[in-house]
Amino acid sequence: DELRAELEETNRGVVALYAELDTQAEELRKATELKSRFLAYMSHEFRTPISAIRSIARLLSDRVDGPLAPEQEKQVGFIDTTASELAEMVDDLLDLAKIEAGRIDISPAWFEMVDLFSALRGMFRPVLHNPATTLIFEEPEGLPKLYTDDRKLSQILRNFISNALKFTPRGEVRVSAMRAGDDAVKFSVSDTGIGIAPEHHAAVFDDFSQVDSPVQKRLRGTGLGLSLSRQLALLLGGHVEVASELGKGSVFSVTLPVQLRRQDAARSE
Ligand code: ADP
Repeated sequence: DELRAELEETNRGVVALYAELDTQAEELRKATELKSRFLAYMSHEFRTPISAIRSIARLLSDRVDGPLAPEQEKQVGFIDTTASELAEMVDDLLDLAKIEAGRIDISPAWFEMVDLFSALRGMFRPVLHNPATTLIFEEPEGLPKLYTDDRKLSQILRNFISNALKFTPRGEVRVSAMRAGDDAVKFSVSDTGIGIAPEHHAAVFDDFSQVDSPVQKRLRGTGLGLSLSRQLALLLGGHVEVASELGKGSVFSVTLPVQLRRQDAARSE
């Protein structure tokens, strides 16, 4: 009898523990949902004032009221770049929040890699301020047409390329694409920049991760770009990877299936 009483007591304890765990899981789910909604709301609301700041900076630099003094021109340029960085961060946050909430749409279509590369070339031409670093797109010859969400692939590559340019004070950034087996394509962005120490390789794709070094402290950023790139690659049924050597340079790659199948995309949604 004593044993039975003890058993029943333990049973009640276990049941209570389960109930408690359930409540906590529910609270955690609600908190996560609230966080996603807050992020989505915030990033959405931030967009309007940021674009207002940018258009005003543009108006000023277009010298509507006569020419600006060189110093003023510099400051106005600074307002514009800072505001566009802010806009990018907000976009990254919004995308991450959408992915977390499973609310991002994937729109695959057939396209040629040559077209994607020339679009990217066009996007980067105006921002190549540093004459000591060249950006080269290798001709993607003999590659099949790709069926995937080209805007998301472009977003991943844009993140890789702007990082590579940012962390390569002088040297070369090279973008290339090649087949990876029968049904995949691998895109790589390699640079001859500052590189990443081996102990940081695993963490660079994490949220808000930034390598702690004097050079990198001078270069602002959010640490969100690569984590977003990883999430996007997963959504497209692929993966990202990094190879890098400190002081030599880095290669960031994304491998994607030639033809995105619905089940690949659904897996991470
Ligand atoms: P951000 O660039 O906004 O800091 P990312 O998520 O894009 O955030 O990158 C995370 C970190 O990874 C960077 O802060 C930097 O330390 C490191 N990193 C990314 N790309 C490179 C690169 N091409 N060369 C050296 N370090 C890099």
